[in-house]
Amino acid sequence: MTKPEPIAALDPKASGLTPDRTAFFLDVDGTLIEIAHRPEAVRVEPGLPLILGSVQEAVGGAIAVVSGRPLVELDRLLHPLKLPSAGQHGLEHRAATGQVGRAATDISLFGGFEDSLRTFVAEHPGTMLEHKGMTLALHYRNAVQARNPARTLVAALIADHADRFQVYDGKMVFEIKPVGVDKGTAVARFMQDEPAFRSRVPLFIGDDATDEFGFAAAQARGGLGLQVGDREPTVADYRITDVLACHRWLAAFARMR
Ligand SMILES: [Mg+2]
Repeated sequence: MTKPEPIAALDPKASGLTPDRTAFFLDVDGTLIEIAHRPEAVRVEPGLPLILGSVQEAVGGAIAVVSGRPLVELDRLLHPLKLPSAGQHGLEHRAATGQVGRAATDISLFGGFEDSLRTFVAEHPGTMLEHKGMTLALHYRNAVQARNPARTLVAALIADHADRFQVYDGKMVFEIKPVGVDKGTAVARFMQDEPAFRSRVPLFIGDDATDEFGFAAAQARGGLGLQVGDREPTVADYRITDVLACHRWLAAFARMR
């Protein structure tokens, strides 16, 4: 695993990435929006939709958000933009045409999982369960001491179903999701299926462990991974300090056109 270069190496002008040949894949929480104590408490910088809109215009529509959040929340946060999107780590997909598809997955076991997780949350004040529709996220940001028992529980829940479910160990969250789709397959799908993306160089920008799939998928297609923050280990090629620096980088990129 190579150590990412400092951000200075990814000066928009010096990077070799140009608006006419780059495709953008953007994580949302921790990348475009600061993480809050609860997922619904995030605050969107007022200028963000304008910046993303200017990038969208600069790259001829080759921009997608790739997030763990459901599509409906992505649209609420980025209003009035409705970008091509992969929600719930790619389990939901919205093409540039606006057409929405959902992965065919069997989540019939979620009822039982949910009962156990709700009991856990009741017993561990500060933890929180988020049922996203196709994934179950157990947050412990406000109860860090619950990390180990939370990890033990989610591992036990899927232990007999590892062929169907996996656990993501994210920033202060364990998330149970069906296998088969991730942020990397989401990138691949846009690059293969969407004329606006095809034959461009993908740049994936993200902050968390699940974004590693996106970095790798971008690299596999001749592109780059840009990590927001200093999480280790990572396969990202570059890093940038924080969310606001990411906004500035995107704005500077859009101005290159
Ligand atoms: Mg993130």
